[in-house]
Amino acid sequence: MEDTILVVNCGSSSLKLALFDQNYNKIASALAERLNNTDAFARIKNVDDPVVLSANADHKQALAALVNAFRERQLMTRDPIAIGHRVVHGGETFREASPIDDATIAAIESCSSLAPLHNPVNLAGIQAMQALFPTITQVAVFDTAYHQTLPERAFRYALPDHYYRDWGVRRYGFHGTSHYYMAHEASLLLDKTPATTSIISAHLGNGCSITAIRDGLSVDTSMGLTPLEGLVMGTRSGDVDPGLFDFLAARGISAREAHRVLNNESGLLGLSGQTNDMRSLCDLADHGHEPSQLAIEVFCFRLARYIGAMTASLSRLDALVFTGGIGENSARIRRETAKHLCLLGIELDSDLNRDHGRWSDGRINAADSRYPVLVIPTNEELVIAREAARLATN
Ligand code: ADP
Repeated sequence: MEDTILVVNCGSSSLKLALFDQNYNKIASALAERLNNTDAFARIKNVDDPVVLSANADHKQALAALVNAFRERQLMTRDPIAIGHRVVHGGETFREASPIDDATIAAIESCSSLAPLHNPVNLAGIQAMQALFPTITQVAVFDTAYHQTLPERAFRYALPDHYYRDWGVRRYGFHGTSHYYMAHEASLLLDKTPATTSIISAHLGNGCSITAIRDGLSVDTSMGLTPLEGLVMGTRSGDVDPGLFDFLAARGISAREAHRVLNNESGLLGLSGQTNDMRSLCDLADHGHEPSQLAIEVFCFRLARYIGAMTASLSRLDALVFTGGIGENSARIRRETAKHLCLLGIELDSDLNRDHGRWSDGRINAADSRYPVLVIPTNEELVIAREAARLATN
């Protein structure tokens, strides 16, 4: 019988569960959505019958139902050797993944004020799995941990010092697991070691962030105190003038309402007025929908500006790396972004960019590009599974 590792990723109203074998091949994955709603549902990928959930099922009930479904379908014939949890915010406490005990839980709780939508549901997932598997090692893997190597000049805001000292107001950065994976995968593709690899890693999914990685370590990143700062995202604005809040307050829009709009109704959705989905946006633009075309242009221009900004933290660039649903799949976004980067000498090969899936090494740059450009599929679940197994067998 094979050893397995479970990976749990709880979002505010959804969760994902993945099961890996001892060689880190994914055996099964499952999804629950619309949790705490009357139409909550769950299903195992590639299995037609849905997993039955009660109306208003919460994270705990959905995890119990999915674990049961894995067992019933013989996908998991005995307890896993380790369970890894994605946890969004580890503050300054966690510089790396941590086995979960009472002290870890208390520390995650103390970071909840920095991520009120995320850490409490991450904890709900942890507590649910502890109840289901009381003797199995559980491990927390933090989105913020990889960025704890940022130098102070990169993580401090130019605000009164006590904001940082008393309240922890600083740039933390997110998507750390994905950027860490990029550093490692890029080093393999470039025939180097992570400790000698310097890249700019652009993670472009529904959330988007970019990180400068020097000799394997994160040294600058675009997301900040919260995952709202930086690039244009699906529904998030990224950078705006902080003066906007006062301007909106004078028009009757409270800070809370402005925060909601900047998080949920802005970005590609706000600009296009139609969708936060890049694929749909490209279709709309192709049919002459000008706001969608503008949304694409703002997205690519902001990204290119940030790529330029990240070079300030590097003395050498081994590759520019694209990942995430948009970064991996959209030749158009990569092309439009690269057009702004001619001063950096970054040139794409149009055939490789369009057909990169056919080329196993992921390179899409032109032969005379000053820097290599790579497309690397991200795999955050794999990193979490490896970390969980490593800490469980330590
Ligand atoms: P999440 O951050 O939720 O994990 P993903 O990394 O899956 O999201 O990225 C989702 C985004 O990727 C969506 O905007 C989707 O439209 C985009 N995407 C996926 N495939 C393509 C494609 N072929 N062309 C353009 N965008 C794509």
